[in-house]
Amino acid sequence: MEQAKVIALTNQKGGVGKTTTTLNLGVGLAKAGKRVLLVDADPQGSLTISFGIKKPDELPLSLANIMQSAILDTPAPMESVLQHSEGVDFIPSNIELSGMELTLFNAMSREYVLRECLSKYRSNYDYILIDCMPSLGMMTINALTAADSVIIPTQPNFLSTKGINLLLGSISKVKRQINPRLRIDGILLTMVDNRTNNARAVAETLRSGIGQNLRVFDTEIPFSVRAAECSIEGKSIFAHDKGGKVALAYESLVGEVSGLECEIHRPRPDRVR
Ligand code: ATP
Ligand code: MG
Repeated sequence: MEQAKVIALTNQKGGVGKTTTTLNLGVGLAKAGKRVLLVDADPQGSLTISFGIKKPDELPLSLANIMQSAILDTPAPMESVLQHSEGVDFIPSNIELSGMELTLFNAMSREYVLRECLSKYRSNYDYILIDCMPSLGMMTINALTAADSVIIPTQPNFLSTKGINLLLGSISKVKRQINPRLRIDGILLTMVDNRTNNARAVAETLRSGIGQNLRVFDTEIPFSVRAAECSIEGKSIFAHDKGGKVALAYESLVGEVSGLECEIHRPRPDRVR
C-alpha cells in the first residue's frame, strides 16, 4: 500500500512562516489532487487557529490526546482528525500539548511517540505535513523522528539564517541516531521583500553558501500583507487572494515539492551529512 510522505516544517526560530507554509503548501497539494493531512505540533495552536478554530483550547480532542493514547497504549480517538473546507484533513492542537514535553520525558521510546501515532494514517494520505513549534525540544525531535524529510522556512535576514546551522546539527543527529531515512528537502525563503538590498544580499549569501550543499528552493515566498490576513480569515492564500503573488509562489512551491518524488533515486549533494 502507498505510504504518505511525511514532511516536518521546522525552524527553532519563531515567526519565520512555518505555519503559513504548512497551511498553504498543504492546501496547494490538495488542489493538485493529493490527499493531505496536516498536523499541528505546536501548543500555540496557530495552524488550528488559521483553520478558523477561534478557541482551540475548547476543542475536546487534539494531538495531545492522540499522543497520550500512544503513551498509555490505548486506542487513539479517530475523531480527532478534522476536515477543512479547502480539501485537507488536520489534527488540531492547543495548550494541552505544552505538557507533552514533560510527559514525553518519562515515556518509553519517547522520541518515537508521534511516529507511532502517525503510522496509522500513512496509508490514507499522500502527504502528511507537520507544523513544528519554534524549539528544538522533545516535540520537534518527535517530528523529526516521524518525518521522511524536512522543509526549513527562513526569512532572509542575518539572525534567521544564522540559526540554521544549529538546526542542521539537530537534524543530522536525529538522522544518525534515530531516523536514518531523514532527508532535507530544502530551505525555503519566506517573507522576502526584494525592495530591500539586505534581503537580496542575505538570500544570495545563503544560496552561494549553504546552498552549495543543500537545496534552497527556487521559489521564494514574497512578503505581503495578504498572507498575514489569511490566518485571521481562517482561509488559505488560494481562497483569500487567488492569483496574488503569494498564492502564485505557493503554487510554484507545490510544483517543486511534488517534483522531489521523481528525484528520489538520483544522487544529489543535498543529503544531510
Ligand atoms: P511560530 O514560530 O510562532 O510558530 P511561524 O514560523 O509558524 O511562527 P507564521 O505564524 O507562519 O510563522 O508567520 C509569522 C507571522 O508572519 C504571522 O503573523 C503570519 O501571518 C505572517 N506571515 C507569514 N507569511 C507571510 C508573508 N509571506 N508575508 C507577510 N506576512 C507573513
Ligand atoms: Mg507556527
